[in-house]
Amino acid sequence: MSEAAGHTRAFQADVARLLHLMVHSVYSDRDIFLRELLSNAADACEKLRYEALADPALAAAPFAITISIDKDAQKLAIEDNGIGMSEDDLADSLGTIARSGTRAFLDRVSADGQGASAAKEGEESAGPAVDLIGQFGIGFYSAFMVADHVDVLTRRAGSNEAFLWRSDGKGSFSIAPLPLEEAPVHGTRVILHLNDASKDYLEPGRIEQIVREHLSALTAPIELVESKG
Ligand code: ADP
Ligand code: MG
Repeated sequence: MSEAAGHTRAFQADVARLLHLMVHSVYSDRDIFLRELLSNAADACEKLRYEALADPALAAAPFAITISIDKDAQKLAIEDNGIGMSEDDLADSLGTIARSGTRAFLDRVSADGQGASAAKEGEESAGPAVDLIGQFGIGFYSAFMVADHVDVLTRRAGSNEAFLWRSDGKGSFSIAPLPLEEAPVHGTRVILHLNDASKDYLEPGRIEQIVREHLSALTAPIELVESKG
């Protein structure tokens, strides 16, 4: 997957701030990344279900969310066959702060005077700020708590274009066209290149435990696949 044809863009300042805060905080409950990514996958299925009511041509195979573990490559992927994202959707949703809760989170962190201290590398006293992470949820960007870089391969339902969004969470992201055969038929595959501190998420039992604890309310079935390398 070459990035030659991609455009590199800067994250909105608030996103860069949020990412810095998450990556450098000592927040311990990293499990929430999976909750966030699975709920996005389920939301995407719901959105396609809704759009297909008005446009039956979009009606799809049964909705499903697949979690794949590739131990050798240290990768964890979450894939849905939901609505997917266009190029503009990608830049808007995964480059800016899309959710109001996240902005409220940043406002609270600033109000508590935690933004600056929590953002310092190696900072140990980021307590109140990191409690807020759990309280608000921080959506897609929580992926960077466990991943060195993240690839999002996506194709919007009804579109004949697919795209690769890629970022290391350090201020910029790129979007490049993706050959259709490398993308989901419709929907989104989020590939997490796990950092060394997060290898425990390559254990199927660990993933199953999080799914059991947090995700009983999901509307699409979840399948766990382990790559044999
Ligand atoms: P929220 O889910 O609260 O909107 P997130 O940070 O989790 O906030 O996600 C931001 C946006 O990115 C979503 O609203 C959605 O538009 C888009 N998005 C994220 N994941 C997916 C996905 N798997 N499929 C389609 N769109 C997605
Ligand atoms: Mg979300």
